[in-house]
Amino acid sequence: MDHFFHIPTELLFGDGIVMKNADKLARLGKRALIVAGKSADANGSLSDIYAALDEKSVAHARVMGPKPNPDQPDVQRIVDAGRDFRADFIVAIGGGSPIDASKVAAALLAQGLNAASLERKPLKDAALPLAAIPTTAGTGTEANSYSIITLENPKRKKTFLTPAMAPRLGLLDPKYTYSLDADQTASTAIDAMAHLVEGYVRTGRTRIGEMLALEGLSRLADCKDALLNKTYDAQARSNLLYAAMIGGVTLAHCRTLAPHQMGYQLTNFRGMPHGQACGVLMASFLDKTRAGCEEQIGKILRALGMNDLGELKAFIAKVLPPHGDYTREELERYAEGSAGDALGKPNPVEMDREMLLNIFVESLIEN
Ligand code: NAP
Ligand code: FE
Repeated sequence: MDHFFHIPTELLFGDGIVMKNADKLARLGKRALIVAGKSADANGSLSDIYAALDEKSVAHARVMGPKPNPDQPDVQRIVDAGRDFRADFIVAIGGGSPIDASKVAAALLAQGLNAASLERKPLKDAALPLAAIPTTAGTGTEANSYSIITLENPKRKKTFLTPAMAPRLGLLDPKYTYSLDADQTASTAIDAMAHLVEGYVRTGRTRIGEMLALEGLSRLADCKDALLNKTYDAQARSNLLYAAMIGGVTLAHCRTLAPHQMGYQLTNFRGMPHGQACGVLMASFLDKTRAGCEEQIGKILRALGMNDLGELKAFIAKVLPPHGDYTREELERYAEGSAGDALGKPNPVEMDREMLLNIFVESLIEN
């Protein structure tokens, strides 16, 4: 066993966690660039960060966060703001979009590069220190060194990965997620489920990855009624954020599989939210790759308190009702478009283009 367990991020979770850790934030630097979208003004996260940085006399400037599914111009805006302010660390507040854009911006700033270079050359392993404060409960990006940025020509989502991009600190306060609406909550929760499921069934998984995945899935199981009824009390919000964080730690070890790569097509070309795009394909993916993960499917279903994949599919469809009509020709394009990335993943069985198409068709036409 060459590799057992390493995450370089200190994860702190609980009510009032930002103010309780002002000193840890201040240890990251003297000039903080805060990357935060509009939602951070309303959910209490931005005012807590201002208070914590002011208490420790850390200078700060705020740049607005990117649009969902950030692209190179979004990243460049953060890089420019960081250079203008001479930031020596970044505080990223929000969902996966601002945190991912900030991770790559932190690397570009440390390496004296601009976002245009993302098309051309791999990032070296250097980045400004980053604190991540998630306000959605889904991506788990606060807990790993991945960043997903949309590139043009051809339009695609590309994963950037370098250890230095892992946040130094992840500060998770469930109350920042209270303002998520029912659809955002559901889509991000199913994204977390996809991370846990894909991390669990991949080939080459580690024992610790398996333990993490089952722990996260059990917490999600506690939220099934909340997701179905679209009413979330403090316990449900806490469980969702915790499960998402565990999903992020799982991914730090296990990476995602074909459904994420396939889902990017639905997000890029249909605007389907990321979590829904991965979730809608999940049951069919597990069914088609069952030969390599029969035992794991049983354990996933037990952890979720479900009987079979039909129940999982029906649950996801109820939580995130499918919308839009698809033709076979369109799905053929998506199967082709995702094949390059999806087939190279450590999926439970060797997959081919035909399988990708069958999963798309079964999930989106024959549902
Ligand atoms: P998001 O794209 O970051 O945010 C979606 C929307 O939710 C935005 O309009 C945002 O508004 C709003 N929002 C955020 N927090 C809110 C709150 N507490 N209350 C109300 N509204 C809130 O959503 P996400 O699903 O978290 O992130 C998706 C991105 O993460 C995708 O690009 C995906 O590819 C990536 N991802 C990364 C990883 C990874 O490991 N790196 C894993 C999975 C997915 P504002 O803009 O105003 O904040
Ligand atoms: Fe995801």
